[in-house]
Amino acid sequence: MAEYITHEHDVLVIGAGGAGLRAAVEASAAGVKVAVVTKSLLGKAHTVMAEGGIAAAMGNVDDRDSWRVHFADTMRGGQYLNDWRMAEVHAKEAPARVRELEAWGALFDRTNDGRILQRNFGGHRYPRLAHVGDRTGLEMIRTLQDHGIHLGLDVFMEHNVLKLLKDGDRISGAFGYDRERGRFHLFRAKAVVLATGGIGRAYRITSNSWEYTGDGHALAYHAGASLMDMEFVQFHPTGMIWPPSVQGILVTEGVRGEGGVLRNKNGERFMFHEIPTLYANQTADSEEEGWRYTQGDKAAKRPPELLTRDHVARCIRREVREGRGSPHGGVFLDIAWIKEKLPNAAEHIKKKLPSMYHQFKQLADIDITKEPMEVGPTTHYMMGGVRVDADSQMSDVPGLFAAGECAAGLHGANRLGGNSLSDLLVFGKRAGEHAADFAKASAPGAVDPDELSRTEKWALQPFERAGSENPYAVQHALQSVMQDFVGIVRHEHEMFEALDRIRELKSASERARVYGNREYNSGWHTALDLPNLLTVSEIVARAALDRKESRGAHFRDDFPLKDDKYGVFNIIARKGADGEVQLTHEPIPAPRDDLKQIIEEMK
Ligand SMILES: Cc1cc2nc3c(=O)[nH]c(=O)nc-3n(C[C@H](O)[C@H](O)[C@H](O)COP(=O)(O)OP(=O)(O)OC[C@H]3O[C@@H](n4cnc5c(N)ncnc54)[C@H](O)[C@@H]3O)c2cc1C
Repeated sequence: MAEYITHEHDVLVIGAGGAGLRAAVEASAAGVKVAVVTKSLLGKAHTVMAEGGIAAAMGNVDDRDSWRVHFADTMRGGQYLNDWRMAEVHAKEAPARVRELEAWGALFDRTNDGRILQRNFGGHRYPRLAHVGDRTGLEMIRTLQDHGIHLGLDVFMEHNVLKLLKDGDRISGAFGYDRERGRFHLFRAKAVVLATGGIGRAYRITSNSWEYTGDGHALAYHAGASLMDMEFVQFHPTGMIWPPSVQGILVTEGVRGEGGVLRNKNGERFMFHEIPTLYANQTADSEEEGWRYTQGDKAAKRPPELLTRDHVARCIRREVREGRGSPHGGVFLDIAWIKEKLPNAAEHIKKKLPSMYHQFKQLADIDITKEPMEVGPTTHYMMGGVRVDADSQMSDVPGLFAAGECAAGLHGANRLGGNSLSDLLVFGKRAGEHAADFAKASAPGAVDPDELSRTEKWALQPFERAGSENPYAVQHALQSVMQDFVGIVRHEHEMFEALDRIRELKSASERARVYGNREYNSGWHTALDLPNLLTVSEIVARAALDRKESRGAHFRDDFPLKDDKYGVFNIIARKGADGEVQLTHEPIPAPRDDLKQIIEEMK
């Protein structure tokens, strides 16, 4: 066998975001040898960008909150396609995970009496998001990485995993390369945790970082795991739209949680024009009531700006299409107006939303304490991912676990803001714990040397082949296809068009040529990302074609209504024996009676 730089661990965690670090901390604390591999530097994973907060029913600001309400909110938000057991575990365990983070050194904003402050967010009935201004992800990553390093994790920064390795059915490690020198590495491990985040870079307009190329989804799929709910891609309603160079950058929902309102070019609060039935009895009847809600009046109902993201994004799109948009094709998000209500509004905004203040000042020359922002929808979050067992987070492949954005189940058809950071903590911990148990009970698996040399040869092809396609151009073309044909509003003929284009782009990617050597060659990295992006894009398009209804984040122009017959199964994608995507409908088990009762009571 060719010589590769080889590392041996009990548990290999792929990804150093919130889910990966939390898993690594847990596995390490269980006494096994743990490695973390990350494409970027430690501390730079996408989680660092998270702004608004971590959802956990601690009841610090409103003592009517409880895990039951959080569970019901999550299920309603996910349009009942969620894995109810995951939603239950998540709602019950999130408060303990947040307090644990605090005990490890995270400095949250405080209530006047010194407890962790919680803010309002879309779809959450009560103020529930523990936060650090609008820089919560930074604090989370800082705390977890400090804690993890002291536990003795081995960290491999700027390393890309290219393939998961198996011994028969079970996992035996992973193969990849380091981005700095381009050398190949073999990671032998008894258990592997995927914590690779999302797929947002398959779209042109996105809030997601460069790392989001769907690697974990594709690695798991090719290793024989099932992917679930891949049609559900979340478009956040408020991304920056101007200037063009910053298009897609997120404008946190925290702005609306603090009283920010959406207006069209005529100055109308258009969100009052259409309230979905599921939320009719929870939504404010007047602008005044909405304001009182954001200021903590327990008798008030939430303003329609805090309805779920799918709905708000579609309302914005409607305003723009019907000619009531802002000059650059979005709508106005106004937090400056609160000066009519609060004496020290400018200072308040800067304190509660420091990143937003700087983001607009520096990138768009807008002072959000004085003027409205222009915003529009941006690709934000992937609800679909690796199907896992709700309690252990193990996939269909023995020894392969998944947690965080690359796993599916918790969020169903639509994620509530703040429920990702709590997901990372709750299920990252569980994945780490169960991966450590699996490793303790297993002997190291074998690695097939031919598979390693085949993968190495494949990875080096872009330097050697005769083709002349530019990998960046292929990626840009794919992003346009997904944005235009499998975006926020979908139609059958457009998605068939997308599949044709994806097929052409697949063969273009096989002709992608890169130049220079292997050291820090970003063209080469892009050429190696392409197969993952193309794999997940095809699965998203196929699943979206298959769901002939509109539900949550998935909206079809040709089937604009929700259809009950689609509310009883998840769409599962597996790689068939012929190498093609196979879709099946798998029934959602009925919730336990006690959970069913909670859902009914809180409808
Ligand atoms: C701007 C912004 C703000 C947000 N704000 C909030 C918020 O306030 N609250 C909330 O709940 N959610 C928020 N979200 C969503 C949330 O931040 C993400 O869903 C979450 O951080 C994902 O965490 P993760 O651990 O799953 O993945 P990530 O943090 O993305 O980590 C993925 C890791 O996997 C690594 N990786 C990927 N592929 C490979 C590979 N092939 N080989 C090796 N390593 C690999 C990456 O390098 C990275 O280290 C926000 C998202 C954005 C974009």
